Amino acid sequence: MKRLRIGLQGVGKIARDQHIPALRGSDAFELVACASRNATVEGVANFHDLAAMLEGRPDLDAVSVCTPPQAHYEAVKMALKAGKHVFLEKPPCTTLREFEELVALARVANRTLFQTWHSRYAKAVAPARAWLKDRTLRGGRVLWKENVRQWHPGQSWIWAAGGFGVFDPGINAISILTEIAPAPVFVRSAMLQVPSNCQSPIAADITFVTDAGAAIVAEFDFREEGHQIWTIELSTDAGVLELKNGGADLTINGKEIAVPDEAEEYPRLYGRFADLIRAGACDVDARPFQLVTDAFFVGARRLVEPFED
Ligand code: NAP
Repeated sequence: MKRLRIGLQGVGKIARDQHIPALRGSDAFELVACASRNATVEGVANFHDLAAMLEGRPDLDAVSVCTPPQAHYEAVKMALKAGKHVFLEKPPCTTLREFEELVALARVANRTLFQTWHSRYAKAVAPARAWLKDRTLRGGRVLWKENVRQWHPGQSWIWAAGGFGVFDPGINAISILTEIAPAPVFVRSAMLQVPSNCQSPIAADITFVTDAGAAIVAEFDFREEGHQIWTIELSTDAGVLELKNGGADLTINGKEIAVPDEAEEYPRLYGRFADLIRAGACDVDARPFQLVTDAFFVGARRLVEPFED
């Protein structure tokens, strides 16, 4: 079958680490163009920005938006209006109103919008969801602690307004939690620690609750220089489930559970994107983003020492 021609906007860390390798190994897509203000990619047509790429390669079927969230709304809008299917990196945009508008635009344009939560494609997430489906949630703990200097070197956008700060990785945890929890979760309270020279938090403690009163306490921290931790632990009427290493490993009642040997996250994401395009469907889920905006809205703020990269 003929491969879909795709162009990529934003040649930064995630494009190089994941998107370009996944697309180069894809049977469904052919990477034919890239748009970046500073970078070029070998073997494809390179453009300075998205508008130039859309004009220069009118034969594109799809666009993958890999820029920071502050640039997502304009890019997705432009690509949809040009009649392209869109793969959108997380976090989807910077306001909920923008999110709704993008979903409506995709509908009007009759194009696929795949608004991705890549962490949901980690290997142990689907088995965790299946095990939790019929359980009663009693409580839980989420620890998402990493070294921002190691994972986001020089990314000043993360500290700017709309940059999410520690919620940039934290929203990955929330995307898994909303996928696997057998009941809806809500933000009860939050404490955000914001460096005095930044607009976005470097650490956050959040308490999520279910309607039945189960509390899930989350600790997000960008200052972890030792062992990096991406763990979700949920207590249920049938025992404790633990997802470790960002959703790659699963333990139930202390016993390691073998998980299916799936492909890595990004090849699976592009496989899903191709399926959605073929089916004429969209895949969007606002819940992780809503919970982050709720945490910002109800959260107390404490200024902490300035952050220097
Ligand atoms: P990055 O390395 O800072 O790269 C961002 C890219 O977008 C660069 O090509 C950059 O500049 C371009 N860009 C930056 N600001 C822009 C703007 N205002 N308008 C247009 N283009 C802009 O960031 P990243 O780590 O790749 O992250 C990008 C997105 O992927 C974020 O939403 C992030 O949450 C998500 N993500 C990142 C990771 C990760 O491990 N880093 C993992 C999963 C998802 P040029 O135009 O100069 O090239």
